[in-house]
Amino acid sequence: MKRTPASIAARFFALSLTALSFGTAALAAEPFDDKFRQLDELLPTANAYRTASGAPGHQYWQQRADYTIRATLDEANRTLTGSEQVTYHNNSPDTLTYLWIQLDQNLFKPDSDTRRIQTAPSREAWTKPQGDGADGAKFEGLRNVLAGRDFDGGFKLSNIRTAGGAPLKYVVNGTMMRIDLPAPLKSGDKFSFAIDWNYKINDAKVLGGRSGYEYFEDDKNVLFEIAQWFPRMAAYYDVAGWQNKQFLGSGEFTLEFGDYDVKLTVPADHVVASTGELQNPGDVLTAAQRDRLEKARTSKTPVIIVTQADAEAAEKSVSKATKTWHFKAKNVRDFAFASSRKFIWDAQGYRKDGTNVLAMSYYPKEGNPLWEKYSTAAIIHTIEQYNKYSLDYPYPTAISVNGPVGGMEYPMISFNGPRPTKDKKTGELTYSKRTKYGLISVIIHEVGHNYFPMIVNSDERQWTWMDEGLNSFVEYLAAQAWEKDFPIGRGDPRDITAYMRSTNQVPIMTNSESVLQFGNNAYAKPATALNILRETILGRELFDYAFKEYARRWKFKRPTPADFFRTMEDASGTDLDWFWRGWFYTTDAVDVSLDNISEFNLNTKDPEVEKAWARARHAEEPVSVTDQRNEGMVRKVDQQPALKDFYNEHDDFTVTNADRNKYRETMEGLEPWQKDLLKQGKYLYLVDFSNKGGLVSPLILEITLKSGKKTIERVPAEVWRYSPTKITKLLVTDEPITALTQDPYWETADVDTSNNSWPRKAAPSRLELFKMERKNPDLMKDFNTPLKGDEAVKADDKSANANGGLNGAAAKQQAETQNLKPEVDKAPARPATDLKK
Ligand SMILES: [Zn+2]
Repeated sequence: MKRTPASIAARFFALSLTALSFGTAALAAEPFDDKFRQLDELLPTANAYRTASGAPGHQYWQQRADYTIRATLDEANRTLTGSEQVTYHNNSPDTLTYLWIQLDQNLFKPDSDTRRIQTAPSREAWTKPQGDGADGAKFEGLRNVLAGRDFDGGFKLSNIRTAGGAPLKYVVNGTMMRIDLPAPLKSGDKFSFAIDWNYKINDAKVLGGRSGYEYFEDDKNVLFEIAQWFPRMAAYYDVAGWQNKQFLGSGEFTLEFGDYDVKLTVPADHVVASTGELQNPGDVLTAAQRDRLEKARTSKTPVIIVTQADAEAAEKSVSKATKTWHFKAKNVRDFAFASSRKFIWDAQGYRKDGTNVLAMSYYPKEGNPLWEKYSTAAIIHTIEQYNKYSLDYPYPTAISVNGPVGGMEYPMISFNGPRPTKDKKTGELTYSKRTKYGLISVIIHEVGHNYFPMIVNSDERQWTWMDEGLNSFVEYLAAQAWEKDFPIGRGDPRDITAYMRSTNQVPIMTNSESVLQFGNNAYAKPATALNILRETILGRELFDYAFKEYARRWKFKRPTPADFFRTMEDASGTDLDWFWRGWFYTTDAVDVSLDNISEFNLNTKDPEVEKAWARARHAEEPVSVTDQRNEGMVRKVDQQPALKDFYNEHDDFTVTNADRNKYRETMEGLEPWQKDLLKQGKYLYLVDFSNKGGLVSPLILEITLKSGKKTIERVPAEVWRYSPTKITKLLVTDEPITALTQDPYWETADVDTSNNSWPRKAAPSRLELFKMERKNPDLMKDFNTPLKGDEAVKADDKSANANGGLNGAAAKQQAETQNLKPEVDKAPARPATDLKK
């Protein structure tokens, strides 16, 4: 039906909020910025080892290294002494003339590259008085630097020999060692060799690091978390050859799978938590403990193996005797352990589908009451959730240890730092919300690392994001499944916008040692990108299948970024090159601006309708100031009505017979479908969007109609393919649009939502006023102030922030553990800020 003019608010209105830019007409045509250009020129050419579908190729190969290790922990001297035999299997098609070995402990040498390349924070940050702890020189930072210069760390190597005992030629280069083979190692052959070594264990609370010891002043005991503790085979693979980049602290480990047979000799009163399965429980555990472990396998709640009372009793003396714990682990890329007489130990089994695991937690009494309540529960939750999204956990144990290390992962075992706070005076134990959720989330994260990169064995020294990003993404999913509103800080698009606006960024596709803003770049941004891919671009069904396929294909193999990108496309049937290009290869941000909106209705060509419509528009125009002031004026034609004629009766909007005849002729010339179209009565809107952030994004349009009805229209990102910075989109509705919002649920990580709505919305904010303060030093008053007693001074003492010199390991620790949302009172609603450019 025809619409009456009165029902139409306006046929045309324009809202122009963006300033026109003048004078920028380019002299030469700029090259077209093709956001959808295929990635082929950036990705390696597919071959027989890695297919174009992202799967391992039919000639895929990887090396293997099996280890037999005997080691002794000297608690009094804080040293570890060991001997290892490595059997290296050359499964590559190549003949090798030398082997590269990783010597991670050399990071702690006083003259290590890591120490020598350390830079101070900016002069301003260094000298700024300590405010909220973010900047300024710290006691811990300076202690770290000074203690590091004096610490005689690093491997002391000896007796490097063939299995037959013949000495081997070798050269140490920083954290790497090359062993020259006595004869070329042919494809398919293996070579066994042995190394003796010892090293001083670092005080993790002073020197930092991913492992080390913690000394407990109160009971004079030591807790050891031991990792990167033996010379390990560097990886050799089809894409990188030998992965022998120096370990500077951030790029973790690129390792080969193998079987381990490890005997650890420790003080007889220690409890050892380790990668692998205990082979000699009869030698090291009591009958009661063995019995409890058996019960734990089928228990629905954690069973305490070593009670807090047992651990506290053990703390009171130091055994001079030793015991040897024997562990074996199959098909792992590394091996770590923890040892202390302070350990409380609980365990609970979990069995489902391909998983049959004993989840275990080891913690000193300082960890309780938090640890007995949450640690083992969090391990099992992690396995349940990660199995759902990736692969069935294949190992027999999954361990969480509380010690000095904030958060670090190894096969089957992880180190997790959060503990309750003990009031120094009353001894009362309390924990903050941050500590509670920090503990649960760091355990999910570190246990989750078993999947990425312990099983899906990406090259960590090259790409931090491939394990940290993917792991942070699944961690985000697992946190949602723990409880509603879990304060996980990485994954939700709204939490990444501040980073995306920041200026000191590098693309995600940056080598691990060169990443700026480590936690945001390698953890939060890829996790958020994958969440957007899942929720907004592919949808859960396509995404989950593809992600799982990636885990299935690369389980116990070594994928590269191209294998991930290609698998996600191949299994979802979606060209995502634009997405990888924008999110992983650039530092662009999403900032879509809704610039203009214009409403159109079809001209019916009927003069009765159209002239009335025009008249109504005319009537809507504001009365001019002159006309307003002339109101009531006596006019000539009013005084002498005889002066009026036809034109005083009819205006420009009068419909004439000529109009009617013309309309009839026009209509006779139209096809029936053309006439129908004129009667549709649809509302047509032209909406201009500009891409201010550079990153192409789908449009999610919330359309509010005059009746109050709201609809969501989802427009794929390909809408930008011909015009990546500015597009005009046609919207068709049955009634007038009264409001339009782009990205109403904040699902695209749009960094500036102030330009997302029509009509524009004022951003609410609070202006806080402060008193003027004048501080006049008053020496006389200060002089006369009475001296405080010791107790009062202690009460004023505030513990300093515990993150000193941020080298690679410290940056990693910060990234692993600071993964929660800021608490609400410290996090104002996202301000509508201007983008950096
Ligand atoms: Zn991590």
